[in-house]
Amino acid sequence: AGTDPEELLAGLDPEQREVATTLRGPVAVIAGAGTGKTRAITHRIAYGVATGVYRPTSVLAVTFTTRAAGELRGRLQQLGAHGVQARTFHSAALRQLQYFWPRAYGSEVPSVLDNRMSLVAESAGRLRVRVDTARLRDLVSEIGWAKVSNVRPEDYARLAQQHNRSVATIDPETVARIFTGYEEAKRDRGRIDFEDILLCTAALISDHPDVAEQVRRTYRHLVVDEYQDVSPLQEALLTLWRGDSQEICVVGDPAQTIHSFAGAQPTFLTGFARRFPGASVVKLVRDYRSTPQVVGCANAVMAVAGASSLKLVAQRPDGPQVSFAEAADEASEASGVADWVEAQHAAGVDYRDLAVLYRINAQSPPLEQALADRGIPYLVRSGERFYERPEVRQTLVTLRTQLRAAESEGGSALDQFKALLGALGWTERPPEGAGAVRERWESLAALLSVAEDLAAARTVQGVPLTLAEVSAELDRRAEAQHVPVAQGVTVSTLHSAKGLEWQGVALLGVHEGSLPFVLATTPEQVAEERRLLYVGMTRAMSLLRVSWSRTRNGGGNVRKPSRFLDPVLPASQRTAGSGVGSSSAARKARGRGVVLSVHCRSCGRGLNDAAERKLGRHHDCPATFDEGTLDLLREWRRQEAASESL
Ligand code: ATP
Ligand code: MG
Repeated sequence: AGTDPEELLAGLDPEQREVATTLRGPVAVIAGAGTGKTRAITHRIAYGVATGVYRPTSVLAVTFTTRAAGELRGRLQQLGAHGVQARTFHSAALRQLQYFWPRAYGSEVPSVLDNRMSLVAESAGRLRVRVDTARLRDLVSEIGWAKVSNVRPEDYARLAQQHNRSVATIDPETVARIFTGYEEAKRDRGRIDFEDILLCTAALISDHPDVAEQVRRTYRHLVVDEYQDVSPLQEALLTLWRGDSQEICVVGDPAQTIHSFAGAQPTFLTGFARRFPGASVVKLVRDYRSTPQVVGCANAVMAVAGASSLKLVAQRPDGPQVSFAEAADEASEASGVADWVEAQHAAGVDYRDLAVLYRINAQSPPLEQALADRGIPYLVRSGERFYERPEVRQTLVTLRTQLRAAESEGGSALDQFKALLGALGWTERPPEGAGAVRERWESLAALLSVAEDLAAARTVQGVPLTLAEVSAELDRRAEAQHVPVAQGVTVSTLHSAKGLEWQGVALLGVHEGSLPFVLATTPEQVAEERRLLYVGMTRAMSLLRVSWSRTRNGGGNVRKPSRFLDPVLPASQRTAGSGVGSSSAARKARGRGVVLSVHCRSCGRGLNDAAERKLGRHHDCPATFDEGTLDLLREWRRQEAASESL
């Protein structure tokens, strides 16, 4: 509509132009990060519209996250392709359900369950299976996996074994029975869940030829971004949407598959040409996003046997070196990141052009603290801010109420605060195990450490601290974090950052146990963790900073930098003074650009030989991880399965 088609091709390289002008499917673009895949498909759609080959309303572009769908819509608008549908799988399906359901079934669409924990708990209860919160979450994730993998309750037990899946302490037959009970309870209440949105749409189309006909007539051209993360269920839906038509264009990067634990199957992308013998397959290798320094680093991380990735060729001019920083503990690591953010900002980089990415949400509190301390505006993508957690809010309110009551009886402010936290569930020793109880304890412990820092500062000054001051300080911090910011540093998990880009990116917590995560034990799981690091690094346009901390909070368990950094850790760039060890083996290792820990991960004492260093612990020490890391384990599982695409 008015856009000059030739102009749309001007900003593309020859391969991208081939994608943009191949308006008839099937088309597959298999290419690495930053090579302009998303750019190529948006230009293709706009070109099709501008040349009159596509009616805008007959194009459906789908992707996985709301944010990515928003980006697609924005880019299409800019290119003059108004009226094109760009949606997540779930939102596209839900729209069709709402439209066709009443006609097909003569009733309103069932409403979508927003929390299925209670129905799963109910089902487990009926079967007299005792589950705690953590296990309940695992069950919910597992049921989600089964549904996107087209595994029915009656087939679950058999197929779970085949896929090497398990839910701690609950045998597959029992999981299958809980799954069945959950489905029944849901049906009885007339509700559908997240996966049912896709399942019901698929059933609607396959059972109603008239619906199928109308859907296929409406959306004649399908385009899928990030296709490497498509699940069997989503693939089935695509097939139903398409019918006999070949009008499909998919783009993706097998090296960026990061949801296979939750059911994604990159083989749909890599096997595309086999399934569509007439397909045009285009490869892109020029990286337009990142400097040669960033590209070199990402390439090196993936240049290992079994981690197939398409080698990227950087197009941008040289930029700064990638920097690596080791910190003594998590608090100082977070401080280092916040200092880096401040330095970039002082050098003229906008806050909104910076991002700090980490493996799991539980890693954000020290970072949020450090940013808030410096008054740096930030946005948390998918996740709750620390001061918005229920137990934290409750503590602040209780503290204020207590202050209004009669001046509290003696004791230091710190003791009084501990007593108050005690009433809310804090104990000197952390509770056993993982799960919600432990998470709550962690939050309260984090509040206590704020008070302890204040008290320590006062001891130096020789002035006693009051409880009112603790309250005021916590309120100040909460407020600093509550200030709604339209523009700020992005704080996000690696998973939520896919497809996006920033001028500068800091990767936090790149140590063994976090990346790869403790639960990643099979070679496939470890490979997926490596891809996650690759996704993180390739978000950076020019500034990339990678950090990790030697310990969680100064305790005895010493961590190693992630094994994935082995090929890229230059001895010269390691943070001075915080050496991983001083034995000659470690020095030699550092000389080769490889850093090995010389401390036992289990007992913290020095290791004896190369074999032990490789193992990371003494031969006769148990393979334990530090408490915090084990805690993160549950959340890891939860996140793997979490879908945020509605
Ligand atoms: P990812 O795998 O991370 O999703 P991608 O392959 O989709 O990456 P894009 O986001 O489309 O890559 O492009 C990366 C960056 O490079 C964007 O800023 C885009 O505008 C720019 N870019 C892409 N192609 C070109 C080109 N031919 N000329 C100039 N800039 C380009
Ligand atoms: Mg993209």
